[in-house]
Amino acid sequence: MSAALLAKLTAKGLIIDGTPMGGGLVEISQSDVAGSLGNGDSDRRLSTEAYKYGLAKWCGDTTYVRELQHWLPAWVWGEFNNVHGKKVSVQESVGMATIALLQGLGGYNCPTCLGSCEYRYKVCPGCNGTGKGAMRKTQKAILVNKSPQAYGKTWDQRVRVVEALVQGWEQEGISYLYRQWADFEVAV
Ligand SMILES: [Zn+2]
Repeated sequence: MSAALLAKLTAKGLIIDGTPMGGGLVEISQSDVAGSLGNGDSDRRLSTEAYKYGLAKWCGDTTYVRELQHWLPAWVWGEFNNVHGKKVSVQESVGMATIALLQGLGGYNCPTCLGSCEYRYKVCPGCNGTGKGAMRKTQKAILVNKSPQAYGKTWDQRVRVVEALVQGWEQEGISYLYRQWADFEVAV
């Protein structure tokens, strides 16, 4: 999946100007995205979380934002305490989930160019011109209520597990949309 397409899929819908769909400018609305996310045969559907994430992120569905805000901390808690055998409190689980959701749903801006994609009139070196970035570690440490040292030593690694889950939903949703739209010519 191209970085350009990734960058253009936002809560306001999607504009594709790449070549995979035959070139030209294609505009896809929020409701087109919502419809496409819900399509598919029973054996080829999106996972429930990826579906909710897609509607929350690209279709501005706040109901699913709230659902994921409830669901993810519980997943984090179970994953670390039961699967990884690491003691993580409810508060810490909420903090870790918040970091991953803020970066995913919030479309966190690159800290170098602040999302403008340019820095000193050149393509931003911090994000290679995508405008997207990750939250700074100091800020992540605050959200899980740890010192920067403790965060770097123990918690950053744990937060990555949660970030990877959320990034997985995003990739799943984008590949799903891409496959569907590649199957037929999207009307302009
Ligand atoms: Zn940048």
